[in-house]
Amino acid sequence: MEWGFYAHRKINYYAIFTVPPPLNQLFKEHIDYISEHAIDPDKRRYANTYEGWRHYIDLDSWMKEDSCVLQRNYFLDRAMTGNWSIKQGEEVHAVELCGFHSGQLHLMHDSYNLSLDSVGIALDFLEHYYHDQFSISDFITEEYTFEELIFEDNLLESGILPYYFLSGYHQLVKEMKGGSVSEVLQKCAELGHYISDAHVPLHTTSNYNGQATGQEGIHAFWETRIPELFAEGEFTHWVGKAEYIGNKVDFIWEIILSSHKLVDKVLNAEITARAQIDEMDHFCFEDRGSQFVRTQCPEFAKAYREAMGGMVEDRWKASIKAVGSIWYSAWLDAGEPELWGMETGLPLKDSSILNNMENVMKNGKFLGRDH
Ligand SMILES: [Zn+2]
Repeated sequence: MEWGFYAHRKINYYAIFTVPPPLNQLFKEHIDYISEHAIDPDKRRYANTYEGWRHYIDLDSWMKEDSCVLQRNYFLDRAMTGNWSIKQGEEVHAVELCGFHSGQLHLMHDSYNLSLDSVGIALDFLEHYYHDQFSISDFITEEYTFEELIFEDNLLESGILPYYFLSGYHQLVKEMKGGSVSEVLQKCAELGHYISDAHVPLHTTSNYNGQATGQEGIHAFWETRIPELFAEGEFTHWVGKAEYIGNKVDFIWEIILSSHKLVDKVLNAEITARAQIDEMDHFCFEDRGSQFVRTQCPEFAKAYREAMGGMVEDRWKASIKAVGSIWYSAWLDAGEPELWGMETGLPLKDSSILNNMENVMKNGKFLGRDH
């Protein structure tokens, strides 16, 4: 789910108001499109297995003491965290990974050194982006009995959010430079989704639904139930203007690492809230049109929110600002193309309603209806 459909739509929506002129015109014209298509990446998860890996990264797999062992480079991280082996006749032998330097990946089997050119492997990795095992092509060795070098991936299933974000960002810039406006809008909407997911602490841990700590259901509690109950009436959505992000690698990794630091608090605060509220009042049934849905009671949600001390709202606001800043940065990196007022085949929104909304938001809490 991740932030829930509700929150993803809203974050993209509010991000539009952070974007400065003249670019904001593009987003205001297509505010419905940008909001609605915020949930496309989640819809795709039903259609293919690898989509899911783009929405999280289990950092606990990659933390040593307090620092992350990943190098923030898709090729390097995949190579260094994977298993390598070599085929010799019918036998398969594990190969030791010695390191990466001078553009070469160094592997060792018995006393044989194998050096692989990073460009060649990078191409193999791109070609097999979502394969968990494959052979390295153009593998040349002086030892003629080595037939095949096999790579086994350990990175994909622990999540690839930051890497995927970066490739999505480059695609967006490319599209802005010379692609179609409707494709720009689609990419903006989807990039907003992944950036927002990166702000959710439970998207950075293998205990993503409290399953390891007896807290099943905490995922939706944090990112869906709390925003649904409190975002509209109690969160502030005005986060200031979007800013240019120079280093996109540091940008996404800092978000991920700051999310990860909050994981313990997310889990512990739920235990605190549970103890404060009578067990009978933890779950309620709510009438949602055609069905009754079992969900956390408002009082329990309020206690959880308070025990976290404003964390959900802080991450919500940080998401809005980050999404707007990335759209704005992509546009600057693309050379400030004029993308608004164009025929896209999509219906345009009346901008006078939106200008009024911007004023309401600037004056503090957003109170009116959003449409
Ligand atoms: Zn997601």
